[in-house]
Amino acid sequence: MDLYEYQARELFKGYGIAVPDAAVVDHPKEARRAAERLGGRVVVKAQVKTGGRGKAGGVKVAADPAAAEFTARQILAMDIKGHPVHRVMLAQPVDIQAEFYVSYVLDRAAGTFLAIASAEGGMDIEEVAATRPEAVARIPVDPAAGVSAAKAAEIAAAAGLPPETADTLVRLWQVLVGEDALLVEVNPLVRTTGQQILALDGKVTLDDNARFRQARWADPTDDPGPAHHPDPHLDPLESAAAARGLTYVKLDGEVGVIGNGAGLVMSTLDVVAGQGARPANFLDIGGGASAQVMADGLDVILSDPEVKAVLVNVFGGITACDAVAEGIVRALDAVHLTRPLVVRLDGNNAARGRAILDARAHPLVEQATTMDGAAARAAELATR
Ligand code: GDP
Ligand code: MN
Repeated sequence: MDLYEYQARELFKGYGIAVPDAAVVDHPKEARRAAERLGGRVVVKAQVKTGGRGKAGGVKVAADPAAAEFTARQILAMDIKGHPVHRVMLAQPVDIQAEFYVSYVLDRAAGTFLAIASAEGGMDIEEVAATRPEAVARIPVDPAAGVSAAKAAEIAAAAGLPPETADTLVRLWQVLVGEDALLVEVNPLVRTTGQQILALDGKVTLDDNARFRQARWADPTDDPGPAHHPDPHLDPLESAAAARGLTYVKLDGEVGVIGNGAGLVMSTLDVVAGQGARPANFLDIGGGASAQVMADGLDVILSDPEVKAVLVNVFGGITACDAVAEGIVRALDAVHLTRPLVVRLDGNNAARGRAILDARAHPLVEQATTMDGAAARAAELATR
């Protein structure tokens, strides 16, 4: 689970990391009052679980409380990369002398953690990493040894950060360990003109395997069980899918992907990418999927306007392909299909499943016999 910036800020504060004074509001009028309390001039920041808010216009300075109300109204009306803004954080502005990037991230391949740090923080760390990788230090951190003062000094030196950032690096590691995080990131960590080190932005991803220990972040809306209402702060489609017990993830491309089982879905994403298209989203209907689950899944995927073509890739094990085909037919009867659907059914009852789709003979539904063939066709349909 990702935390919002304001939640990350609270966490950081609890671990003794200096952060600007701030308040979170969900209404422009409250923004005005909060700005008054914070001293008038504030930075108004969209609270969305996606990066690049600054570039998208979601981070703006307001000169006084009236401007804060106006700017908050503007930002609260925004949608940043498909994330509607429901709350803004108002932060006391600081005079920045230098911006740094620091993070700890789980390096699954190496079986360890990695400190990533750069003296060139700010909004474009991805670009720095791509164009000048030497400006980004990557230092393995042994999870058992952790980050001592000496280790922090080593990381700071490797990245060209001033030595006074080392204390923050130690505390940030304590956040990671203490909160079961897989990622903690501060971009920018700044040195103010007054020589103070401040975390100006924060991203924290908690390990969902430790969710039973994360009660205080349990936003019922972020993880809707069957009895919960969907989260207004999540991607609406992600909440709609979660409410139906489906795992749906929104991505940036044009091919909608439905599969059964995480492994198959992940490899389907790779195969789509290998065919020169980009997945728009993916939905895992899980093992043992029923016709209803398939119909629900298609409904969710087709609600995404970015989807230009849908690839259904099912390998029947416990899941029976005829049930999946029935679900597709049910969905076709319920929705007016406007985008092509490429279906590959294999495994348990595949022949029956294919026959059901053949019999339905929908002009926008095609079948493929192999995963590569299906991905190639879906990519072609989505990008033509
Ligand atoms: P992001 O674009 O989603 O990463 O949002 P950030 O919170 O990192 O803000 C983007 C940029 O806005 C930062 O890199 C800073 O340059 C700038 N910024 C944010 N807060 C302040 C502030 O209090 N004072 C000043 N001068 N700039 C700020
Ligand atoms: Mn940032």
